[in-house]
Amino acid sequence: MKVLLIDDSSLMRKMIVRALRQADLGVDETFEAANGEEGLAALKAHSPELVLCDWNMPVMGGLEFVKHACEFSKIPIIMLTTESVGEKEAEARKAGARGYVTKPFTPEKLGDAIREVV
Ligand SMILES: [Mg+2]
Repeated sequence: MKVLLIDDSSLMRKMIVRALRQADLGVDETFEAANGEEGLAALKAHSPELVLCDWNMPVMGGLEFVKHACEFSKIPIIMLTTESVGEKEAEARKAGARGYVTKPFTPEKLGDAIREVV
């Protein structure tokens, strides 16, 4: 499975890659982007099968990314964010996000959220 990671923190992207490996999901390729705008370009360039996307990012945040991505793609997107569940999750799902995981997360929690949507 090819996964696109969008997060402005390179450390967080590293942690996500490690968690994906530990969750044993059959991820064989990951692509990284540091904001929503780069994420849209990577989505078009690499045709991943899943997107994990941060909420707060410079240039283009996660919510805006989801809105744009869902205009041309049906790819499952999981928001991975420090924003607490509730209103934000409802907003993300209304925009087209399929899952919502709060940081910090365990590989198990991330794995469960991914298995639900792929
Ligand atoms: Mg961020």
